[in-house]
Amino acid sequence: MAGTLTAADRCDRCPAAAAYRVQKDDAPLALDFCGHHFRSNAADLYAEGWTVTLGNPDVVGLPDLEGTPS
Ligand SMILES: [Zn+2]
Repeated sequence: MAGTLTAADRCDRCPAAAAYRVQKDDAPLALDFCGHHFRSNAADLYAEGWTVTLGNPDVVGLPDLEGTPS
């Protein structure tokens, strides 16, 4: 899965920049999450068969930024 998320990609749960995109192999669905929402949902996502397909190198590895005006 080529490519990366950019600053234009936003978390589906809040206005923060998306850090991860997750997809299901058997469905044409994709969800974008900031680091905070990814971590808070990761266990359920993995249990349901979602896998991380993209990451945003500008966000991944940085402290949580959600709630910070941008
Ligand atoms: Zn979020």
